[in-house]
Amino acid sequence: MKDKDCIFCKIANGEIPASTVYEDEDFRVILDLGPASRGHALILPKEHYQDLCHLDERTAAKVLPLAGKIGSAMKKALGCSGFNVVQNNGEAAGQTVFHFHAHIIPRYENGPSMVTWEPGKAEPEELTEISSVLKRELESEN
Ligand code: AMP
Ligand code: ZN
Repeated sequence: MKDKDCIFCKIANGEIPASTVYEDEDFRVILDLGPASRGHALILPKEHYQDLCHLDERTAAKVLPLAGKIGSAMKKALGCSGFNVVQNNGEAAGQTVFHFHAHIIPRYENGPSMVTWEPGKAEPEELTEISSVLKRELESEN
């Protein structure tokens, strides 16, 4: 399904131009207009899914292999030493376009620090409590 008001539906299906680096029957991969680093790309499914929780399993299974393929090409063609795969779900997580997408961000030697956080501290009791709440939820879904 497509969403007629969704900019990534329009880009993924070729109605709005974008710098496409890869296309197949399920996905279009484009360059991000506001890149975090040189070559920053976005994997867009051609169907509309709001985020990872809405993605169908058949499409989801293809995202990581495609991310690996794009990342490998970036290393060879752009000379980056590594890459991050980032995928935001929900406003609180920084999602601004509500059509599932995965960021592939090339990382260069001596490039700026990004996709990082200050490690916090968790007490063992807290980890036990969190894992039991999550386990219960996951078991109730089966
Ligand atoms: P997110 O914050 O995870 O939802 O990421 C949305 C990304 O889409 C941002 O990195 C934007 O720079 C990028 N973006 C938004 N509109 C366009 C567009 N028309 N073409 C390419 N990238 C876009
Ligand atoms: Zn869409």
